[in-house]
Amino acid sequence: MKTSLKWLFLFACVPLVAALPLPDFWIFQLNYIGLYALTCLGLVLLTGVAGLTSFGQAAFVGMGAYTTAWLTLNTDLSPWLTLWVGLGLTGVSALAVGLMTLRMSGHYLPLATIAWGLSLYYLMGNLDALGKYDGLLGLKSLTLGDFNIGQGRAFFALTWVIVLSAAWGMLNLLDSRAGRVIRSLKNGTQMAEAMGINTFRYKVIAFVLAAMLASVSGWLMAHFQRTVNPSAFGLKMGIEYLFMTVVGGVGYVWGAVVGSGLVKLLDDYLQVLLPRLIGTSGSYEVIVFGIVLVLVLKYMPEGLWSLVARFLPRSDRAENWHNAAALSERNKPAAGEWVLDVQGIRKQFGGLVAVNDISFQIKAQQIVGLIGPNGAGKSTTFNLITGVLGLTSGAVRYRGETISGLASRDIARRGMARTFQHVKMIPDMTVLENVAMGAYSRSQRGVVSAMLRTNQAEEQALFKEAQKQLQRIGMAEHMHELAGNLAMGQQRLMEIARALCADPALLLLDEPAAGLRHKEKQNLAQVLRQLRDQGMSILLVEHDMDLVMQVCDHLVVMEFGTLLTQGTPQDIQQSPAVRAAYLGTEH
Ligand code: ADP
Ligand code: MG
Repeated sequence: MKTSLKWLFLFACVPLVAALPLPDFWIFQLNYIGLYALTCLGLVLLTGVAGLTSFGQAAFVGMGAYTTAWLTLNTDLSPWLTLWVGLGLTGVSALAVGLMTLRMSGHYLPLATIAWGLSLYYLMGNLDALGKYDGLLGLKSLTLGDFNIGQGRAFFALTWVIVLSAAWGMLNLLDSRAGRVIRSLKNGTQMAEAMGINTFRYKVIAFVLAAMLASVSGWLMAHFQRTVNPSAFGLKMGIEYLFMTVVGGVGYVWGAVVGSGLVKLLDDYLQVLLPRLIGTSGSYEVIVFGIVLVLVLKYMPEGLWSLVARFLPRSDRAENWHNAAALSERNKPAAGEWVLDVQGIRKQFGGLVAVNDISFQIKAQQIVGLIGPNGAGKSTTFNLITGVLGLTSGAVRYRGETISGLASRDIARRGMARTFQHVKMIPDMTVLENVAMGAYSRSQRGVVSAMLRTNQAEEQALFKEAQKQLQRIGMAEHMHELAGNLAMGQQRLMEIARALCADPALLLLDEPAAGLRHKEKQNLAQVLRQLRDQGMSILLVEHDMDLVMQVCDHLVVMEFGTLLTQGTPQDIQQSPAVRAAYLGTEH
């Protein structure tokens, strides 16, 4: 209720500001700020949240602008229709560009967006139909029936209602199943893929959404300026949009608004002031912008809004999910049934045989420990089973199906859930939200339903499940804390809860006891035994012999990539070969 009141107030501010006796020039400035803010909102999603840098947003603004300009000048189409044509064209182009470039890593993506921005700029500047570098002139203002929206207060109202709606949709998105995935992209994709998520798909979605926001801005801009020409959509503007977003706060939705406001006002001010100071005219403001950017990046890397955000109260998520429906559960193997059958798997890294024809099985409701000295090949085996690495030879069968060769997300969807040797989580999300990501493949609501907030029943079901799994491992009292603030042991337990959210038939844990204190280890052993008693099968890769001996039903011992021996903990403890290879060096 409180948030809907806040939004009501924000939307009510639009007609209020329009009715204030402000000078026309101010309204004019606010209109530009709104137009820029729309594009910057897309950059917040793309660059700030998903970690994908784009210098090419101005080109998408240009697509929206040129589409409506050409169509309204050459056809009878209403601008309200050309908006959708522009959105369609932009969407399709962004999809094509995204599919081609988003698999690139590191600096290749920003470079590709520069190339894209430049090529569209030259295309706009060289097509006769688009008026070459002079552009298209004589566009009409937007009208609503007989009412002329013009360039003043009515345009202000239209633009800012769109900006606020976009901000609302964006904040809704970020607080949803799909949004949590987009928020996870910045820290690498391995974790999300292990939750059964196709992360590439979400990169493309973020890219297309950002482009479409830019396109709406272009549509508005064309009818605001009543002329379009390439200079407003070139690389310089692309860089400027990114600059605005970074200065405002690239990780915050409201940073887009603050940044566009600040840069627009600073720009105008400097264009008057600098020539007077220096004595000649020229684009000196670019130099000041450069200096400001360096200072912001050095002293306030999260942008201006981070200063404000620090003072905003962080409200706990209302626990409104107690009546939510339970998520569907998969059928589980009966006790004693084979769950995992590893058949002679092998992994070579060049000349090194890291895993040398290893075979073992796991039955339902069994905890199997995979042990061996450092470098024995445990993690590699783990990654071969979960599909993170490809097999050199051999096969892995899971519940009667050959899964070797499948992507890790497809293996995860079949009910194999894992944790990581080095905890992978989203530190600035709450424990509850992190854990809810584990249930991704048991839910389906997408981006549109998230933005319109029609996903709430499913969201509640997800949080109910997350809370249930946190309770199961004794972490419920931490659910509203930020994951990054937890102690190491708690983070590891959180990962187990997240894996359990997937309703797995097989749980794979990579060194869950690493970095835990004695009492935390005892607690972990307790949790693992309890999970087994509730029907879970577990593969435990572990260094800690005490823990392994306490909880495992069966042990597989590796050394230098090969299988040394396997058997019950008692057998293993008495095996002279194991003592020599492992216990001897460890104890
Ligand atoms: P463990 O988890 O038992 O400590 P690992 O499976 O991590 O052992 O490593 C087994 C061997 O394979 C080590 O010698 C390691 O250096 C090597 N290795 C692991 N990953 C790679 C890789 N990606 N490229 C080359 N060698 C690797
Ligand atoms: Mg390891």
